[in-house]
Amino acid sequence: MTKFHIPGFPRIGEQRQLKRGLEGYWAGDVSQPELLSIATRIRESNWQRQLAAGVDWLTVGDFALYDHVLNTSVLLGHLPERVKTTDNRIDQMFLTARGRAPSGTPCHAAEMTKWFDTNYHYLVPECRADDTFQLQPEWLLDEIRAAQALTDQVKPVILGPMTYLFLAKSAEGVDRLSLLPRLLPIYSELFCLLKEQGIDWVQLDEPVLALDLPDDWQQAFEPAYHSLRFGGLNILLASYFGSLERNQSVALALPVQGLHIDQVAGTDDLGALVDKLGPYKVLSVGAISGRNIWRTDLDACYRLLKPVAEQLGDRLWVSTSCSLLHVPYDVDNEAATDGRMTPAVLPWLAFAQQKLEEGSLLRDGLNTAATLNCQAWQQQADCITDRHESLMVHKPAVKLVAQTAASQQWQRSLPYEQRAECQQARWQLPLLPTTTIGSFPQTAEIRQLRQRFRQGDINPSVYHQGLLTEIEHCIRVQEDIGLDVLVHGEAERNDMVEYFGELLEGIAVSSHGWVQSYGSRCVKPPLIFGDIERLQPMTVEWSRYAASLSERPVKGMLTGPVTLLKWAFVRDDQPWSQTAYQLAAALRVEIAELEAAGIGMIQVDEPALREALPLKQAARADYLAWAVNSFRYATTAVAAETQIHTHMCYADFDDILPAIEAMDADVITLETARSASKLLDGLASRPYHNGIGPGVYDIHSPNVPDTEAMASILRAAAAVVPLRNLWVNPDCGLKTRRWEEVKPALKAMVQVAQTLRAQG
Ligand code: GLN
Ligand code: ZN
Repeated sequence: MTKFHIPGFPRIGEQRQLKRGLEGYWAGDVSQPELLSIATRIRESNWQRQLAAGVDWLTVGDFALYDHVLNTSVLLGHLPERVKTTDNRIDQMFLTARGRAPSGTPCHAAEMTKWFDTNYHYLVPECRADDTFQLQPEWLLDEIRAAQALTDQVKPVILGPMTYLFLAKSAEGVDRLSLLPRLLPIYSELFCLLKEQGIDWVQLDEPVLALDLPDDWQQAFEPAYHSLRFGGLNILLASYFGSLERNQSVALALPVQGLHIDQVAGTDDLGALVDKLGPYKVLSVGAISGRNIWRTDLDACYRLLKPVAEQLGDRLWVSTSCSLLHVPYDVDNEAATDGRMTPAVLPWLAFAQQKLEEGSLLRDGLNTAATLNCQAWQQQADCITDRHESLMVHKPAVKLVAQTAASQQWQRSLPYEQRAECQQARWQLPLLPTTTIGSFPQTAEIRQLRQRFRQGDINPSVYHQGLLTEIEHCIRVQEDIGLDVLVHGEAERNDMVEYFGELLEGIAVSSHGWVQSYGSRCVKPPLIFGDIERLQPMTVEWSRYAASLSERPVKGMLTGPVTLLKWAFVRDDQPWSQTAYQLAAALRVEIAELEAAGIGMIQVDEPALREALPLKQAARADYLAWAVNSFRYATTAVAAETQIHTHMCYADFDDILPAIEAMDADVITLETARSASKLLDGLASRPYHNGIGPGVYDIHSPNVPDTEAMASILRAAAAVVPLRNLWVNPDCGLKTRRWEEVKPALKAMVQVAQTLRAQG
């Protein structure tokens, strides 16, 4: 009989209880026992959901107070030395994550970075040559014991040794692989304890198997796994986020009892894999997406899996492609509340709860033919048909525009040098023009105003007026500071993606669709469900009003096609590129209207361009081609004297510099304040010809930036960028800062620009 399990469940709590618990604990309003009991309740409710849905294995060890990679560092006794200023284990963990905790001495936080190609961030383990490990299994064993009170089919999930080290960063010259001989015995020790604890199966996550692994890492897998002592445990080796491809033979050769693959992101040939699996191994097929929120086509899954089930019998498990960490809790919360969600879309959706039900149903369908005729199976099929045929999804005219857009290479009417002359003639900007990235503080007043508007306490015109007042304030402050190019401040935006999601047809927004981004931070991605139409201007009025208030240029502010796509739940029924071109088409019209309204500088943010880069090298060129061309489709219909800006953050820009160049924006502002030298080295070896503003200070810090540090970034930039192309700006938007922080920081920045200008 086929079995059903999941690789992991969301952990933030259905009502984001963990967020409130954590923030309360950090602020001193919630005690540590209270925080832990919040966590216990979340875990128990997660387990109850799984049991109620009828999982064959209860997944344990996937919960984390902050992050599961950080949990692994705790488990392996591998936290940085600098956090050991307190004996409190939990505070040591928070010191690592945030640099501060209720006990212990503040220190610098560990680096955080994106978990593969998701929007989730993990804490990067730090390795040094003399690192040692020491098993600290208490938290895991406690959770297992609690789960065993509910069922004896408990399956702990642990991040595997290869992935743990691969994701770590090491001090200069340390080969992370050289730590394996010290690390592996810790895993063996843990397996032994788990066996004693009555565990049968352990899920060992090795998602690096979905990457193009460097040869030495690929070769290290087999000896590493052969030297592990499993103590009689069965190991389900889990790979996700892509196909195994050239790692397939490695994965198959490992001395484990099962293999989990991602059959949604991956394209491994199941038949071939089954043939190579060997006579005893389990195959867990992740056929239900753990990353997206559309109902699963169970009939298609059935057709794919039935032959496998016949061949493997008990050895086939069905599953979600990866942990459900990446999707919200429960669609039912949308139906119940304020109705932000487009009602017709609701039946098409499956969040974590629905995915549990789907997995269980799929298993039953594979096991008993009668299930295929049951009401639940039929309803599921009807939802799929309804979505595929819906006129809300398919709009032939929109598809045609996107196809035409995709069929051409878009370009500005003149090359950059000539455009730059027209633009300079128009704006007469000084050398080293100063500007900001777009947002100004989202104050408590702005958030309250929006909340009162949403709840119906104030009418639209009061809300509107409130925003206009905010814009005027923002313009006056910028004039007072002496910035050269102003922005309207983005007060109207709760979020740079959701705001556009609310205004565009074909995109739905949720009320409760929260997904953990890191620690206590959650995001609520919009849902792109259909062909996209812009039926109304989105930003024109705000920009026009802002521009009317000042003699200085005011930049219009939009979010680019790739970022809108990457930070949303996206359609799975057409290629991403199609959706990107549709978004670009909407932006192209918006940009034309901004231009017609007299807005002569327009910024189109693409912070997610780098992050959307496919994990596999082979897919990158195609991605970059459509990503760049969709940006150009959006931005190239304007006159030569209209200046297009773009902005990117969180990036390791090296491998996309050619693509950035190809976007051909007149000005790009970049997040570099924390790694300026890296970017500047890149620019030295590959000159950038258009306008560029390397962020001169880190907006993530509340401190007034150091004048000398800003000046030195600019001097270094001037050595690799022609002076006339150099802009001066912070490294990202200012929405998370307070006015008291923003004003002195920007004044200092403007001062630096003026001083350098005077020095020529
Ligand atoms: N314009 C946006 C802002 O200033 C850009 C944010 C971002 O890069 N993530 O907030
Ligand atoms: Zn940014």
